[in-house]
Amino acid sequence: MINEGLERYDYYETRGGVFVMALKVKHSSQEPAHWLCPNCHERGYMSQLTPSDTQAYYDCPRTDCQASFKTNEEPANSGGEKGAFIADPHTEKDRAGRRRV
Ligand SMILES: [Zn+2]
Repeated sequence: MINEGLERYDYYETRGGVFVMALKVKHSSQEPAHWLCPNCHERGYMSQLTPSDTQAYYDCPRTDCQASFKTNEEPANSGGEKGAFIADPHTEKDRAGRRRV
């Protein structure tokens, strides 16, 4: 199935202020940290973002998308400092709040 596994991902707000798809906490220990393109995820494709030359950016490799995301950070498994933001479901409120700041 083309969209198999998509439900394991959820929106994650990066330090750059843009949203990408990251593994949900309960799945985060199953594989190395990575992000998916949210645009492609919405269309049912699993497209893993790749770091661009400038490091602050992650790019979608799909030729029909080619979105670029200014993340200002790298994927990290939850539990680490960077992943703490999505590690706790109780921070969902924080995420909503930050978006309005
Ligand atoms: Zn994409």
